[in-house]
Amino acid sequence: MTIIDQPRAPFVMPELPYDRAALAPHIGAETIDYHYGKHLRAYVDNLNKLVADTQMADQSLEEIVRGGAGAIFNNAAQAWNHTLYFLQLSPTPLRRPSGGLSAAIDRDFGSFDAFVEQFTKAALGLFGSGWVWLASDADGKLTIDAMPNAGNPLTEGLTPLMVVDVWEHAYYIDHRNARAEAVKAFWNVLDWRVAEERYGL
Ligand code: MN
Repeated sequence: MTIIDQPRAPFVMPELPYDRAALAPHIGAETIDYHYGKHLRAYVDNLNKLVADTQMADQSLEEIVRGGAGAIFNNAAQAWNHTLYFLQLSPTPLRRPSGGLSAAIDRDFGSFDAFVEQFTKAALGLFGSGWVWLASDADGKLTIDAMPNAGNPLTEGLTPLMVVDVWEHAYYIDHRNARAEAVKAFWNVLDWRVAEERYGL
């Protein structure tokens, strides 16, 4: 089960279950070095500094995402969001969901291909920096949630299942300004096993 939560500060970096170059050419080693090694590192380090000696030092990462505001929310959500983002990627991905998640995608979006089309449209349509999520409510109903900046569906009472990062820092090294190319490449390394595991959490 891919659990992103961490019980309390100091929060740590997720360990990548693949080599830095393993996702190339879709996501290259230099992107991993910067996106994981520098951007995510900075969010985790900033969060630890911000919550040190506050009551939030004893809260879990998810509690801080749900209840935090300002810089604490931004850094906590960016830590959470990037952890799911990196852990859902794989050089040997399951390319299509199966089982209950597959059935729910068919029910709520019409078909897997229709879902990919709607999700891609949301990713290309989100102005500026942000994240586009597949999320589930408590009844298992699925939604596509395009959220600016550090947005996370946990703040809406939903369970995040998978996510694409549309901040330019996620794709500029590999794809320059071409977000459409980056989103197309993303599908090649997205492992649906992770979303399947998280469905029904
Ligand atoms: Mn990012």
